[in-house]
Amino acid sequence: MSSPYPNLLRPLDLGFTTLANRVLMGSMHTGLEDGRKHFPAMAAFFAERARGCVGLIVTGGFAPNIEGWAKPFAGTLSTSGGARRHKLVTDAVHAEGGKIALQILHTGRYGYSPLCVAPSRIQSPISPFTPRALTARGIERQILAFVRCARLAREAGYDGVEVMGSEGYFINQFLVTHTNHRTDEWGGAYANRMRLAVEIVQRVREAVGPDFILIYRLSMLDLIPDGSSWDEVVMLAKAVARAGATIINTGIGWHEARVPTIATSVPRGAFAWVTQKMRKELRGAGLNIPLITSNRINMPEVAEAVLAEGCADMVSMARPFLADAEFVAKAAAGRRDEINTCIACNQACLDHTFKAKLASCLVNPRAGHETTLLLRRLDASAGHRKRVAVVGAGPAGLAAATTLAERGHEVHLFESAAEIGGQFNMAKRIPGKEEFSETLRYFARRIQLTGVQLHLSRRVAAADLVAQKFDEVVLATGVRPRDPKIPGAELPHVLSYIDVLLHGRPVGARVAVVGAGGIGFDVAEFLVTAPGHSPTLSLHEWLTEWGVADPASVRGGVRRARPAPPARQVTLLQRKAGKLGKGLGKTTGWIHRAALQMKQVEMIDGVNYERITPQGLFVTYGDKRRDGQLIECDTVVLCAGQEPLRELLAPLKAAGVKTHLIGGADEASELDAKRAIDQATRLAAVM
Ligand code: FAD
Ligand code: NAP
Ligand code: SF4
Repeated sequence: MSSPYPNLLRPLDLGFTTLANRVLMGSMHTGLEDGRKHFPAMAAFFAERARGCVGLIVTGGFAPNIEGWAKPFAGTLSTSGGARRHKLVTDAVHAEGGKIALQILHTGRYGYSPLCVAPSRIQSPISPFTPRALTARGIERQILAFVRCARLAREAGYDGVEVMGSEGYFINQFLVTHTNHRTDEWGGAYANRMRLAVEIVQRVREAVGPDFILIYRLSMLDLIPDGSSWDEVVMLAKAVARAGATIINTGIGWHEARVPTIATSVPRGAFAWVTQKMRKELRGAGLNIPLITSNRINMPEVAEAVLAEGCADMVSMARPFLADAEFVAKAAAGRRDEINTCIACNQACLDHTFKAKLASCLVNPRAGHETTLLLRRLDASAGHRKRVAVVGAGPAGLAAATTLAERGHEVHLFESAAEIGGQFNMAKRIPGKEEFSETLRYFARRIQLTGVQLHLSRRVAAADLVAQKFDEVVLATGVRPRDPKIPGAELPHVLSYIDVLLHGRPVGARVAVVGAGGIGFDVAEFLVTAPGHSPTLSLHEWLTEWGVADPASVRGGVRRARPAPPARQVTLLQRKAGKLGKGLGKTTGWIHRAALQMKQVEMIDGVNYERITPQGLFVTYGDKRRDGQLIECDTVVLCAGQEPLRELLAPLKAAGVKTHLIGGADEASELDAKRAIDQATRLAAVM
């Protein structure tokens, strides 16, 4: 049978070794790198991905020395003792038939550490520490550290290393005048600025020999003002290829860039054209080095398309392997519809990393917890099989029901709506959140595969459940919107977010949104998008909206953003004083704020909602209720938070039924799908 993904699943011959397919599991910092005690967990994490048939795995970043630390005591490989510890990881991956490379990450001025160093003494906007400017001898020491780290990686059994030269880290900082003010042989002309990158590749190659994979991650699009010009990037790529790199990987955007590069609102495969542009340059110069493209590739057909179009020789996917360790195996077996798709929310991965928590995944809470969150099948003969009712098919109910059934229980899932998904059916309608529908596709398929008996359009009452004599009941009935009790809320132009997002009730040209939590922001984004306009921006529209340009025409590939005008005039309000959106995701909140600012949404904090009138919303400010103001509008949309919906709990308990509460039904405050799915999976694992 012919494969639906012939390009993706084709082996890649590197001369001295062959990769089984064109899939690289890109480097991700999971936090497992940062403590010896995590090494068994890290070995299990990578082994599971190797078993899932990834062509080549790259570890999270390891610093080559303490000056390169991402934060104090970050994972470092600088001694033979350290290399011996890594054997646990490389052996586990090789036992599964996989290949693994170690990423060498020197963070330079991005280091959250007083020891950080850089070409020049210039603080980055994302670290509180000012780096020490290196002397020429200091630079030589850093190069030697890279070389030592690569040699130790080989000693530890790795199949190769990736030299991190993008995302604004140490090597990148030498490349642009923005961060390199040196006047010696490491600064000034571009040939000097790129010397560090080329020397590292050359000297690592000399140290590790010819039969060791050396990936260089190259910043092809800096997305910062005064970033590299296209000619410079091409010059570096050629030099790196000639210096001994085996593969060049694509880096997009410095961490300080103000353009989203991996969030869910970034179109799929949005930056593959950059790698394609580079590939033409290198092939034109007779350099056949394989290129890897990256960013927002999350399904096999997306990966296949970028390879078929000649954008690259391999694709890098990182977060998709948190979401589903078996991604490649499922694609190869024609089971694409079983893939648990990364929805690019960043909520359990990158947001955790920035809070110094272990990374996991919103849609797959086992990620990073493979040794502790065990989903054991029941011993059928031991009489452990139960008849379980799960009420509510939102994220919590879906995760609980499918996990319970997979383990061997008989599961009945009741949902009052005509479709599964709960609030995700609203989330998926938000422009830029279309990926959320993939989670529902995944669960729909998993319900079929696990044999969950699904009862749609069935609003169950406690008496139904008692009558059916279930052994246990899981209540995943979610939430109801909070009534903020504003006088005038009964007027016809006052709607809830459910009216707007689920029921498509008409909304006027001027709107006041009450409440600026996650839902208030999403509703504002929905309302400023033109009605009838497909919420998905074309790639061209998206690049224009965020000011991404051809790097051959403008340095760094970034110019002034040119957003389309807003469809409505929206005012977003909250009662507490302070910046709106403070509670949004650490790595995505700025994107939501910037998107609304681009659409001229007025954001007002510190209000008291006095009353709603036919003319609009009357507010005052502060404790003294001063400065009364009418916010004129045609529609008021209430997004004032949520309360648990658990009316079935008391009667079930009274009837003596063993009942569990999960998701919003358990606790609505600070609820999100991450908590709902995690709690549901953990409960189902032990029932
Ligand atoms: P729900 O999703 O509310 O599901 C409860 C289900 O129970 C419903 O389908 C309901 O019909 C059903 N039900 C209730 N009573 C009964 C009954 N008696 N019988 C049968 N069925 C019943 N979270 C994130 O993490 N990230 C986001 O980006 C995000 N964006 C969002 C955007 C929007 C616009 C909205 C509205 C929510 C968003 N959320 C997001 C929140 C997330 O969707 C919720 O946290 C999550 O859905 C809660 O899951 P749950 O299963 O507990 O409840
Ligand atoms: P939320 O984040 O708790 O926000 C509720 C908003 O309503 C706040 O702005 C709050 O601020 C306001 N509010 C609370 N009580 C009020 C009252 N009595 N009167 C008027 N205003 C009141 O809840 P949400 O926006 O409903 O979102 C629900 C959950 O979904 C959230 O926990 C969120 O994590 C999740 N979600 C996440 C995302 C995401 O991108 N990660 C997106 C959407 C939803 P003030 O009290 O200051 O007015
Ligand atoms: Fe993808 Fe969200 Fe999971 Fe991160 S948490 S891997 S972004 S689905």
